[in-house]
Amino acid sequence: MSSEVLLMMGPPGAGKGTQAARLAEAHDLRALSTGDMLRAHVSQGTDLGREAKAIMEAGDLVPDDLIVAMVRSELDELEEIRVLLDGFPRTPGQAVALDALLAEFGAEMTAAVVLEVPEDELVRRLVGRAEELGRSDDNEATVRHRMSVYHDATKPLLDFYDARGLLRRVDGTGEMSDVTRRIQEALA
Ligand code: AMP
Repeated sequence: MSSEVLLMMGPPGAGKGTQAARLAEAHDLRALSTGDMLRAHVSQGTDLGREAKAIMEAGDLVPDDLIVAMVRSELDELEEIRVLLDGFPRTPGQAVALDALLAEFGAEMTAAVVLEVPEDELVRRLVGRAEELGRSDDNEATVRHRMSVYHDATKPLLDFYDARGLLRRVDGTGEMSDVTRRIQEALA
């Protein structure tokens, strides 16, 4: 099998995690979520977890060098680069680092899917998720802050991938299964 690298992008609350899991299964890819990896570090109390905890609770971004090192060590474990990256890259620096990593591992980006959901709907979903899952970075003030971090740091990456013809914009509203179908169509 040849390498395949899909990115799942979009604002907090857009449904990246759910759709990433489904897409990874359909394309036989390893789903790598930097948010999940960081949460595992926090709960295991590693050095990285201790460094990341307060940053995550504030809704800010963990420094690029830490994130890139974490992703690199995951890629290093794989026999072939067949991955779906969820929540990475999130800054221009991470996007440049990802290009370098892929070149190093002899892989190329396949496509970047961005889930588009109106902001009011995102806040409603995230505050609901806070109540359900008890994620400490899901209260309304932090949610608003994460949204502004997305606008400032991450959204510019959409143009970066669009200019390369890799961006696939997908309507992220409505039933999850409809979103899954739209993603499949966008990638077909
Ligand atoms: P997520 O589950 O993707 O929403 O990530 C939760 C939190 O983890 C974010 O709000 C950030 O604090 C941190 N995080 C996850 N991925 C990254 C990344 N690629 N760069 C910097 N921080 C990240």
